[in-house]
Amino acid sequence: IQWFPGHMTRARRQIEDKLKLIDVAIELLDARIPLSSRNPMVDDILQGKPRLVLLNKADLADPAITAEWVQYFADQGLKALPMDASTGTGIKEILPRCKELLSHKIEAQLRKGINPRAIRALIVGIPNVGKSTLINQLAGRKIANTGDKPGVTKGQQWIKFGTDMDLLDTPGILWPKFDDQNVGMKLAATGAIKEEILHLDDIAFHTIRYMIDYYGERLMDRFGIGDLPEDTENPNEVIEVMETIGRKRGCIVSGGRVDLDKTSLLFLRELRSGKLGRVSLEVPPEY
Ligand code: GDP
Repeated sequence: IQWFPGHMTRARRQIEDKLKLIDVAIELLDARIPLSSRNPMVDDILQGKPRLVLLNKADLADPAITAEWVQYFADQGLKALPMDASTGTGIKEILPRCKELLSHKIEAQLRKGINPRAIRALIVGIPNVGKSTLINQLAGRKIANTGDKPGVTKGQQWIKFGTDMDLLDTPGILWPKFDDQNVGMKLAATGAIKEEILHLDDIAFHTIRYMIDYYGERLMDRFGIGDLPEDTENPNEVIEVMETIGRKRGCIVSGGRVDLDKTSLLFLRELRSGKLGRVSLEVPPEY
């Protein structure tokens, strides 16, 4: 989706309508880039609703860094759970954590002799973070109503997740940050935004620079790189690494020059499919 001010206003209004119906919001982030995949106004938009944070696509992220992120969110008073919506790994934890978040309310009802009703939940997150995949996984079947169209309102349907939880079948779609180039690069590297918006070689350049600093040995092993530059602030040194990767993958044009566009495409494909191992592209701020 292209996000214009009108889209943002509509998306926001839609979530506000849904908030009236639910007890808890489930905020989906990409475990590889939890802050970059976060809507900049989410605290304001969710208006203090009890919230569970899911670090989705944790199967692709660096487990040690994901653990750091769980701690980071805990420090901010938010429960965060690593999740792999595509296989359902971690979904069993969702209900108990939501119950924990609502325990005051549930206990108060029990004290009054009221049988607590099913917890009503809404999934929110930016496009491509895995909202539909999670909804389908929780529903145990494919739900049709999950399209990425902030303007379209449909009748709300509840999906039963066991007897204790009801989930709205349409997620709340939030817009990503786009005023920060560094954030845009990470969103593009993970496939959250279309790469046509940014140049492929820029996306690969930024990603490779990050990986030299954090996953240098892996790059060396995978692409047979002899040694890595000391100073990734020097663009020429990073480009040299890109060229080595290109030669390793046979991305050569006439005259023996390395085709950086093709190199970038192949590199990003390997990254996204997990061939470079589990890679996180962001660490908590105070890390
Ligand atoms: P939505 O736009 O938020 O509804 O995102 P989708 O559910 O359509 O997911 C976007 C892409 O991410 C799809 O190709 C999914 O298969 C993939 N995906 C979703 N969750 C996961 C996950 O936990 N792990 C991995 N590896 N891929 C996922």
